[in-house]
Formats: sequence, C-alpha cells, structure tokens
Amino acid sequence: MILFLKQNVAEHEVKHFCQSLQEKGIVIAHSDEDLKKIMLLGDLSQISQHDLRAHEIVREIQHVSSPYKKASRVFRQTDTLVHVGNAKFGQGFFSVIAGPCSVESEAQMQEITSVMKQSGASLLRGGAFKPRTSPYAFQGMGMPGLDLLRKAREQSGIPIVTEIMSAEHLPFFSDVDILQVGARNMQNFELLKALGKVKNPVLLKRGFCATIDEWLMSAEYLLSGGNENVILCERGIRTFEPSTRNTLDLSAVVMLKEKTHLPVIVDPSHACGLAWMVEPLALAAIAAGADGLMIEVHQDPQNAKSDGEQSLTPNQFYDLMKKVEKTVSFFGKTLSSDQES
Ligand code: PEP
Ligand code: MN
Repeated sequence: MILFLKQNVAEHEVKHFCQSLQEKGIVIAHSDEDLKKIMLLGDLSQISQHDLRAHEIVREIQHVSSPYKKASRVFRQTDTLVHVGNAKFGQGFFSVIAGPCSVESEAQMQEITSVMKQSGASLLRGGAFKPRTSPYAFQGMGMPGLDLLRKAREQSGIPIVTEIMSAEHLPFFSDVDILQVGARNMQNFELLKALGKVKNPVLLKRGFCATIDEWLMSAEYLLSGGNENVILCERGIRTFEPSTRNTLDLSAVVMLKEKTHLPVIVDPSHACGLAWMVEPLALAAIAAGADGLMIEVHQDPQNAKSDGEQSLTPNQFYDLMKKVEKTVSFFGKTLSSDQES
C-alpha cells in the first residue's frame, strides 16, 4: 500500500507516524522521488485502512496490486541507475559485460581484458564456481579462479562480475564488483536473502522456467532486504524449440521496462547457445530497450572448458562491438565504455 501524505506535514510528524506503524510490525519504504510518498510493506492485516485514511497527515491511499512492491514502477517511476567503475546501466546508459564462461588461466584473463580495452566493454565476466548440469563436467577453478579475476582487475582496472552459488561463499566474494545469481539459483531464497544484506550490486539472471512476475519477486527479495542495486538479465527460457539452447524472450525486456524501474540486460550467448546467432540477437536486444549486454568471449572457443560453442572469438567480438556502439546511439542511449582512446 502506498500512502501519499499531505504536503504541509512537518518532518517530525511523518517520523512519529512511521514509528507508530513500525511498532505494529509494518516495514516502511520511503520514496526518493517524493518525500511525502511512503510504502507500507509486510503484514498489513493489523492496521485499519479506515483509520489510515482518516489520519490527519494522510492525503490518499493507493493499493499496489502487483505482488512485488519495491521493484514496481508504481513505487518508483524513475529508472534505477546501477553504476560500477565505468559501467552504467539504466537512465539511458548502456554497458557491455564480456568474458569467458569459465575462468581458465592468467594468460586467458590478460588476453580478454586487452580485447575489452580495445572494444568498449566495461565489465569482465568469468565463472570461478560453475553450476554444471553434470557433476562430471568442469566445475570451475573455485578460489584460484576468483584470484585470477582479482588479478585481472588489478592489472586492467576493469571491474569483475562472477557467479555466487551459495550464501556460505559470501565472505570470499565481498570485493566482487557485481555478484551474479545464475538462472539455476534465481529462486534460491536463502541466497537472495543473504545478498539483500550486502552492498555489492547483484545481476539476477532469469530462471529458465520462471515467469516475469516470479523473476520480479526474486528481485523483491533483494530490494526488501536493503540491496537496491539490482540488474535483471534475460538469458533465454526453456520452450518446445530444440534448435537453440533456449528461446530468447525479448518481449520480456519490453514488458519489464513497463513493470519495473530496474535496469534490464540481455545475455544472447546462453539464450541461443550458438556463436553465429549472438550478433543479431544482441542488436535486437538493444532495439527492444535493453540497458546492456552480457556476451561470452573466449580466445580459443574450440578448446574452452565450458560453453565454447556459444563463445565469440576476440575478432567476432570487436566486430560486434562496432555495431553495438552504432545501434546503442541510434536508439538514443550512451555506451559506457572502458575503451582506450
Ligand atoms: C553463466 O553466465 O555462465 C551461466 C551459467 O548462466 P545461466 O545461469 O544463465 O545459465
Ligand atoms: Mn556459460
């Protein structure tokens, strides 16, 4: 429920009013757009709507019908901007996250960061802890992989994005610039609750069988826990179509722009699973209104330890980035870039 307070109400009156609600177990969220707009969250059955409406400082009550509240545009109309290093997502800014599926070696990290510097990508991705369908598949380098990402950041100045699979790992991820929650963990509620309490921005990927509303409810876990730096990532959903790894749901991007203020990016690599399809899907994502892209790039895709089939070579990535730059500007957005001039 959203309460609009009267304009002439003094700050101490608002404070006192909020305290009386908090004593009843209600959680209050203040809008940064309008000081006289507050949202009541939690179990509202204890409070009388009649009393609220009649309260001398309340001007109007608005019910929020969506199950997610803080993620909704009803609560916040202005787009959220997530800003990390030179990367900005939202409010007209567009950024590209690039890198291999898995971190494999120091030489690989050096090659990828130099590709990024020359092409305009602004965040380095790489999995150290990998969620693999088979327990016999490469599970990632683990802690040494995290150290290689840190070293790459130190040498290049490019911030890092990597997947966290368990809340128990949080102490080891505290300096990671963006924490990625993978598709398989989108509804790992204990992980989401833990990430709600940290300051690091979170990249929340869509579960492959999740509806848009279920995805936004997962975002709500993060926001309600206090972490407002959330980026949503569409990475394809499971459908009846077997010729691509997943089906890229670009209509979700358009729908999300209507439903939420959070930035939305697209990962065409996992959506299609085929390197030759990545470029057209990436450009289509920009046209659909995405605020960024996540692209898998590998120096030697044929010998990649995971997801080689969908990884672009450095040259393919350069070519893509030239088109991304033009397309982003055609659609009136600004590419935030780490490019060396
Ligand atoms: C990944 O980004 O490497 C990954 C495993 O993605 P997803 O969770 O979308 O499958
Ligand atoms: Mn991958």
